Amino acid sequence: MVISPIDDVGLVPFGKGFERGLDVRSLCTRGVQMETLAGLGLPVATGLTIPVPNVPGLVSADRAEAAVHLLETIADRTVGSTTADGGILLLRLRASAPLDAAGLPPDLVAIGLENGRIPEGLRPKMAADLAVAWWKTASFIAEFALEVPGDEIAALGLDFDDPAHRIEPLIALCNEKGKNKFPLEVNQQLADAAAAMLARWTSPRAARARRTQQLPADLPLGLHLETVVITDHDDAGHGHAISRDLSTGQFAPTGGFRHGVRVSGERPSIGHPLSKLPGGVAMLTGVLAELEGRLKTVVLVDFEYGPEGLVLAGLEELNRTSARVATSLAVDLATRGITDERSAVAAIRPAHVLELMHPRPRLTGHEVVLVTGLAASPGAAVGRIALTSEEACEMAEAGDSVILVAAETTPGDLPGMMAAAGILTVTGGSASHAAVVARGMGRPAICGAGGMRIDRAAGTVTAGEHVLQRGDVISVDGDAGAVYVGAVPIERPEPSFALSTVLNWADDVRRLGIRANADTGVDAGVAMDNGAEGIGLCRTEHMFLGDRLPFIRRVILSSSPEEEELALAALAEAQREDFRDLLLAVGDRPVTVRLLDAPMHEFLPTEHEVVDENWSKMAESLHEENPMLGVRGVRLALIHEGLYPAQVEGLFNAWIDVNTQHGIAPTLEVMIPLVSIPDELLMSLRLIRRVNQEVASRTGIVVPFSIGTMVETPRAALMADQLAQWAEFISFGTNDLTQYTMAADRMLGSVASFQDPWHPAVLRLIKQLGDAGAAAGKPVGVCGEAAADPNLAIVLVGLGVTTLSMTPAALADVRASLLTVTLDEAKARAARALNGRTAADARKLGTSS
Ligand code: PEP
Ligand code: MG
Repeated sequence: MVISPIDDVGLVPFGKGFERGLDVRSLCTRGVQMETLAGLGLPVATGLTIPVPNVPGLVSADRAEAAVHLLETIADRTVGSTTADGGILLLRLRASAPLDAAGLPPDLVAIGLENGRIPEGLRPKMAADLAVAWWKTASFIAEFALEVPGDEIAALGLDFDDPAHRIEPLIALCNEKGKNKFPLEVNQQLADAAAAMLARWTSPRAARARRTQQLPADLPLGLHLETVVITDHDDAGHGHAISRDLSTGQFAPTGGFRHGVRVSGERPSIGHPLSKLPGGVAMLTGVLAELEGRLKTVVLVDFEYGPEGLVLAGLEELNRTSARVATSLAVDLATRGITDERSAVAAIRPAHVLELMHPRPRLTGHEVVLVTGLAASPGAAVGRIALTSEEACEMAEAGDSVILVAAETTPGDLPGMMAAAGILTVTGGSASHAAVVARGMGRPAICGAGGMRIDRAAGTVTAGEHVLQRGDVISVDGDAGAVYVGAVPIERPEPSFALSTVLNWADDVRRLGIRANADTGVDAGVAMDNGAEGIGLCRTEHMFLGDRLPFIRRVILSSSPEEEELALAALAEAQREDFRDLLLAVGDRPVTVRLLDAPMHEFLPTEHEVVDENWSKMAESLHEENPMLGVRGVRLALIHEGLYPAQVEGLFNAWIDVNTQHGIAPTLEVMIPLVSIPDELLMSLRLIRRVNQEVASRTGIVVPFSIGTMVETPRAALMADQLAQWAEFISFGTNDLTQYTMAADRMLGSVASFQDPWHPAVLRLIKQLGDAGAAAGKPVGVCGEAAADPNLAIVLVGLGVTTLSMTPAALADVRASLLTVTLDEAKARAARALNGRTAADARKLGTSS
């Protein structure tokens, strides 16, 4: 390391270094700490720094004398003098480097002891303290400055138990074997102490140690000379205090102290709690608050106290703290007016939010991994293996925590998924049914764990050498995508008031709409509690799962127009109730209701189901080899023309119910799924408007609503300008858009890696629509899983997206992430991601700033 020589600086009293233009390169870390403390006007230990270029000079007794003299002048006392409470004033020499470095020479305490001997007649405690301190110093000087063989010095320790008894033999040994005689007066003692420190620091062994720590081998050394009072007064001692409780994050000085003299730079781990500090903690509390405010970080101070009061002896800035501490600090600083709400939000990282929101496994490194897969939904859970939805429900009812383990899940598995604490599937990517539903429910999930085989008949799960039985306990870590054999302890974060405060601030300064995907009143309530401004996607097909499937089946499989009409009337009434619940939870906020969208096969009876013969035959005739490219979304609705009208009739009636009975007026947005050509949108528009007029003429109330379209096919994205003419809003379904752009079935585990919305092809389609939306003045949203990725959300905003809607569990992460960047930064990231070659490439380019 190259240090520019500072010849005329010499000795720098604490508090004078910065004003002389010195920095860490010459003052070293300890010098900077003391400058910072003194510069803030805080009471600091009396001392001075010998800057790096001047350290070699200190080995001469003349320079040492100058240093002692200057320190005596600052302290207004002489070394060796007795203090009012009977203590002795001596010197302490400490070392530090321009970088934080392990392996520094130890503190040398009690320099200046006259004749090098412990004075007679001291009080016992004080004599013992002094002997320990002086033996450490004297033996170090002997070995490194006087070059007395270390083993002979060590032998004195074996011969004499009490350090006080070793001093005399040590002086004799030095006088006999040392390069020079043992120093008996203060200036020479200081010069030899400095020489010893330098010798130790420049020894080949120490240089090698620095290399292994990847520090420069020639890292220089600065020295710091301070006064120290050795006393046995019960009101004297040393300790440290941290500004915050590191487990709760609250501002509350924590730390400890000990009576007696500090003999090393290391902090004592045990001692008395700060609450017992003689004189109280009021002063420390004030100091720590001041330091946090100035340095904007959690701080640790070392302090020394005595009859003359408390002084600060060291400072550390604790920049790497837990999410809880970082969030509390950010909120406190903004509340005190030291920073503002925007800075508080910017201080929070998505990783902080994750840490504060989701349960996590407490790993020891000894866990046995059963299998790994895609980290599909965050959080962690422990439970017994259930291999079917029914099993999961039964086990949960019996009071067990359950992990549902399946090859893949289907809508029919929803009851088991709701009963389970976690979900594990063999196939499927991040947009598979299991992943989407688990994220929606806030359950941890691991998908695509292809290293696992399930034998339902035998009731086993096999992965590598492990064969587990139904009912065996496993643990899933949805953040890491790891499954462990047995129970791993799970840490559940306490709710963080600071986090919700900072996220609310984030919303206040953000102009982007953040909504949640929710299908029921309960989910919508959770979403609002998590800060959603409305519902951006209600998947109405989720209202027809499990025992409600027949409502749709009866429509699709009806054998006559009359039968279909009856089925539609029942469906409209059922929807009225569903929507009433949802709208009540939504209140006066916006809600986007997506009309029925599912591949036909999800509604048809399976071959295992016992249904009437007509239905079986009909189901067979409707069977599709590739349902993702078949009759789904709006296509089904245009074959069964009464389907969407029945749904919106239920919706409009529900709106009138909540409006007239509860006085609320949700902003209704009706969304048409899987539109590819404008005609599909236009036909749907006509059907829906007709129902709106019919309801108005029946009730006298015109229900306000807007109609928009999803964009889920490359065709729709490429012709977005045409769709934007008709649609009042547009929302990207990135799950399907990715599937169709990449030509990879989103349910198929073997092609799960293609299902990545970061792919530049997908991003380019989104950009095209973002531009078309802006040109037509129409809002453009994303309600696919892409919106729930905190980094991708930033890129989407950069591509022109104006609303993001996601699973409620992702709201906090995304809200926090968005406020860490400006719109310009989001655009820059988007521009970089668009130029990626692969999804991984785009992710890398679009994630870094
Ligand atoms: C999508 O395709 O991104 C979407 C939101 O719809 P779904 O996942 O229900 O197909
Ligand atoms: Mg879709």
